[in-house]
Amino acid sequence: MIITDSHSHLSIHAEDGIAFSVCCDENLESIDDHFELKDDIGRSYVFCGIHPWFIQDSMILENILSKCQRAIDTGRIDGIGEIGMDSVRRGIATLSRQELFFDAFVSLAVRNSLPMSIHCVKTSDRCVAVLKKYSKSLPPTAMHSLCVHFSEAERFLRLSDNIFIGVGIRSIIQCGTKTKKMLRVVPIDKVLIETDWEEGESKHWDMTRAQALARVIEYLSIVYGKPIEDIQKITFDNFKRFARSTSK
Ligand SMILES: [Zn+2]
Repeated sequence: MIITDSHSHLSIHAEDGIAFSVCCDENLESIDDHFELKDDIGRSYVFCGIHPWFIQDSMILENILSKCQRAIDTGRIDGIGEIGMDSVRRGIATLSRQELFFDAFVSLAVRNSLPMSIHCVKTSDRCVAVLKKYSKSLPPTAMHSLCVHFSEAERFLRLSDNIFIGVGIRSIIQCGTKTKKMLRVVPIDKVLIETDWEEGESKHWDMTRAQALARVIEYLSIVYGKPIEDIQKITFDNFKRFARSTSK
């Protein structure tokens, strides 16, 4: 079974049954550790960015962007993420500051033609508005673990042919009804599978990462009425279009 994980926060990837995996850095502090993954056999993709939950008042955007650009210039960065906006989480930066960071990171991804992984929680209007500014040159972009009304998913998909929708174990367990309705408007060639796992989540969910991804594939097989083998192949092809694994 060829399984990919298009969004995780794990500093290890080499688990049985997972062919390719994206590791999203959250705040650039552990980016050097994530580079260690690159010494492996090319199955890990390292994305860098500042997650909206971790935007600090003390952060100077220009310095952060320079640090990211320097990392990109080394050739060891495969994408930008996790970036985005969140209006639900308490105690984080204001939405206008989140938008400032998000816009700057989208611009960075566009300038460097790097794929993006985006966190969008109850901020669809703002996220769409920012992405729209760049829609003519938008690189492959994953709206990861998106849990929105189907009409909002349609708005994202209309922005560009390069938009993908990430579906993970959280999407089907914690956001099941909404996800099922949303997927009616999402063509299967726009679906990425993911875990969004951090260290220790395997224990929390009582399954391995490969088992979690297999469960998402089974779910998609039922939703789209296609055999499991077809879903595996399609989501693998989608991953290659998203993270460009063919260049590895
Ligand atoms: Zn994440």
